[in-house]
Amino acid sequence: MNIVLLGAPGAGKGTQASKIKEKYNVLHISTGDIFRANIKGGTPIGKVAKSYIDAGKLVSDEVTCDIVKDRLSQDDVKAGYMLDGFPRNLFQAGELDKFATIDWCVNIDVDFALLQDRICGRRVCACGESYHVSTLNGETKCAKCGGELYQRADDNPETVKARLDTYQNQTAPLIEYYQKQGKLVNIESGTKSPDEVFELICKELDKRVK
Ligand code: ADP
Ligand code: ZN
Repeated sequence: MNIVLLGAPGAGKGTQASKIKEKYNVLHISTGDIFRANIKGGTPIGKVAKSYIDAGKLVSDEVTCDIVKDRLSQDDVKAGYMLDGFPRNLFQAGELDKFATIDWCVNIDVDFALLQDRICGRRVCACGESYHVSTLNGETKCAKCGGELYQRADDNPETVKARLDTYQNQTAPLIEYYQKQGKLVNIESGTKSPDEVFELICKELDKRVK
């Protein structure tokens, strides 16, 4: 099963991705994670990507598509994968269809008004877990692995606003793109907890798999 995970920044893609990965045994491929690893490692790609990411803009399609195409050419993707953060605009979606076969697009639909606060209060761990300051009670370590929590460099109010604009203008049209292909699995996350959202995702995917 090859899936695309879609949702605005702060919709909870990362949280759901780790649950989906565990249950359905798919490889989790996050373009955001790949860029952050490159920035940390000081690679040429990282240097190019940083200026875009800091501004809340998309990294160029050329660089992004190359990275994903290259990743999907490796052997370990054969058992199935989940793309998180890619595609992010119609051009990328068209390119993806040239080098991959996507079965389903899981869209996490969330109230736009909640996102700014969610993202700005987000604290993350290197292991992939994320938290919100409102429930941390001052805790600075990850409950899962004990790692030090930190705030992502692009989780600041100005960049977040730009990212939300970018999402609405460029990424949201993908919902219709996948709907037309008959691949859209829409998940209304509303005020549900992450576990409840995950249950919904499983219910919908289990109906379709096999
Ligand atoms: P979020 O979904 O919370 O914005 P991500 O980790 O998916 O976070 O992405 C962080 C940043 O990395 C984006 O704001 C963008 O600059 C860049 N990026 C990630 N995926 C893509 C992509 N498919 N195309 C272009 N830029 C991307
Ligand atoms: Zn951790």
